[in-house]
Amino acid sequence: MRNIMQPRFLVLYGSQKGQAQSIAEGIAEDAQDNGLVAELKCLNQTDEFNLEKENAPVVFIVSTTGDGEPPDNALKFVKDIKTKTFSTDHYKHLCYALLALGDTNYANFCNCGKTIERPAVLNFSYADDGVGLEVVVDPWLEGLWKAIKGALSKMASNWTTGPPVGNCGIESVKTQTGHAGDPQEGSLTHSLPPLSESSLNVPALPPPYLDVSLEDVDTMKEVRTFESVCKVPICRAVQLTRGDSVKTALLLELDITAHTTLAYEPGDSFDVFCPNRDTEVEEILSKLGLREKRNHSVHVSLKKDTKKRGAQVPSYIPQNISLLTLLTWCLEIRSVPKKAFLRALVEHTGDSVQRRRLQELCSKQGTADYNLYVRDPSLSTLELLTAFPSCLPPLSLLIEHLPKLQPRPYSASSSRLKHPGKLLFVFNVVDFPECTGRWAGKRGLCTGWLFDLINRGLDFPGRVERSGSLTLPMVHVSLRSNGSFRPPSDLTVPFIMVGPGTGVAPFIGFLQQRYGKQENPDVVFGETWLFFGCRHKDRDYLFREDLEGFVSSGVLNHLKVCFSRDDQEQEKEEEKKVTTSVARPRYVQHNLLLNSQYISDILLKQKGYIYVCGDAKNMAKDVNEALIEMIKTQMQVDQLEAMKTLAGLREEKRYLQDIWA
Ligand code: FAD
Repeated sequence: MRNIMQPRFLVLYGSQKGQAQSIAEGIAEDAQDNGLVAELKCLNQTDEFNLEKENAPVVFIVSTTGDGEPPDNALKFVKDIKTKTFSTDHYKHLCYALLALGDTNYANFCNCGKTIERPAVLNFSYADDGVGLEVVVDPWLEGLWKAIKGALSKMASNWTTGPPVGNCGIESVKTQTGHAGDPQEGSLTHSLPPLSESSLNVPALPPPYLDVSLEDVDTMKEVRTFESVCKVPICRAVQLTRGDSVKTALLLELDITAHTTLAYEPGDSFDVFCPNRDTEVEEILSKLGLREKRNHSVHVSLKKDTKKRGAQVPSYIPQNISLLTLLTWCLEIRSVPKKAFLRALVEHTGDSVQRRRLQELCSKQGTADYNLYVRDPSLSTLELLTAFPSCLPPLSLLIEHLPKLQPRPYSASSSRLKHPGKLLFVFNVVDFPECTGRWAGKRGLCTGWLFDLINRGLDFPGRVERSGSLTLPMVHVSLRSNGSFRPPSDLTVPFIMVGPGTGVAPFIGFLQQRYGKQENPDVVFGETWLFFGCRHKDRDYLFREDLEGFVSSGVLNHLKVCFSRDDQEQEKEEEKKVTTSVARPRYVQHNLLLNSQYISDILLKQKGYIYVCGDAKNMAKDVNEALIEMIKTQMQVDQLEAMKTLAGLREEKRYLQDIWA
């Protein structure tokens, strides 16, 4: 029952992976300490709030997924505000704060937050996962209470008691001194002064909210449902890179003949559902002391007296599930523990030195160490638990804090015209190097799993040795349609594709599709350009034969390829002989700039399209900057004008990205 004397405010979140939701929940929990009452709602619960009539402050926490898409549970809300024609002062009465989560590696950074953003804002921020959400989120949260209270006192006519000055949900922890040994170097488990000697502000303890029990059942009918997911065989696997290449790229072919729901178009991607590694699941079971109970049935319910606002049993935990299945298929046991989780783990850590270090890592003062030892190396929860052996959390805590095990998306690299009944995709096997807390390197979860699945039947370049007798490995997949990342429907329109490394994948599908339509003698096909890049011509030039084949058949008019490492080596050789004044293009953006005149003609005069696919970390940003430079020079305009022109292309959906971190 809410205290009617306490002023209320509304917290609305839209969250894909749970980050925005957990920040929103944290705010709702801290409200009480600030003398306020928070109503927590998900943005899709549109019948439970009414912004038209809302007169209390509203706090929005929204994330952005993919190329600027709203999270699934905010789709309807965002669609409504985009499509309904509101007057400019429609939400003028609304007093709200906004926190938009995103990643500047994506060009449409925080797009969902920007869509919601209007005037009349209390306090708003864009938090960047590219550099660490905490950098923005922590100060934003600190400013939030002041802003809400300020707004409420302006609306003071409808409340009688002033809000008490709260402690912002931060609890003080006194320094403990004298931990064993005095290591010279900092590490995950050891800190150095000044952190080791300072007082700490650690987050408030997240209230427990789940009761978990295990039941020994004789026979359990386990129902593990995958929504609209198909189980398909991997019928071919090829290693596209040479053995001495830095990265290992693999091409897999799936047989989708039996599944009409997987009818994909070039440009679409699809989800692969992978399990956690069985060795890691076993380690977690040991850590929890539950190895003998792995086949017990898990019952999860809400704690009756929980203080957590808006607490719910996570929707991704089905009934009638064994502990083993829960840890294998439902929870991301490799997720990087958030500070709130570290805070909760402190309570289950026996050793005082380890407790102190966990407190440091989740504290405000320990942010640099948290980033260095936990966030940047993507330290998994299991690795953390192993490094802190006296930390023995209960199963319920893991279920409360570990996010849903997400499927991994991959871009289709085929066209059904060329490969009827087949779906091809290509990926790099992700490698995590060892670090403090990780004794040996490891592979990415999904790419490592796929690699192990197909390893026995793999075709290596120049060595075909698949045995027909092997049973085909099966994977669960579902289609993720991407309505806009498609080749132009008008075949006469020219387009440019930029896809270094595995980013070339969807363009193989584009070109196969175009090849299939080439017989039409009445069409004058628009020009096609492809910019590809890799390290070495003879080690990781993916799809080389296919691309050269497209050029010979006239499907691809211009193939521009650069090799970032070969060129360097060649340049060094040349430097020794004569100095050459012509800089070689090393990356796709250099090649784009070398062809500025043509590219800008296609985009600015011929209403053509440009598609960019692949690594979001550097490439997409560099290409974006190259395009701005190009527009500046070709149109003789300043930076701002060039940025506007590029934004216009994006708006018209003629500049499209499909990028991933
Ligand atoms: P995970 O175990 O999930 O680990 C990857 C994560 O770890 C990354 O988030 C990264 O931040 C982090 N990380 C990686 N290396 C390190 C390191 N050295 N140190 C610290 N942290 C690190 N990938 C392809 O290869 N081909 C595709 O066609 C493709 N298409 C995609 C399409 C879309 C729409 C999206 C969103 C992604 C796509 N991806 C593609 C990426 C793919 O979904 C996976 O993210 C990727 O294969 C890694 O999965 P994983 O489970 O093996 O790695």
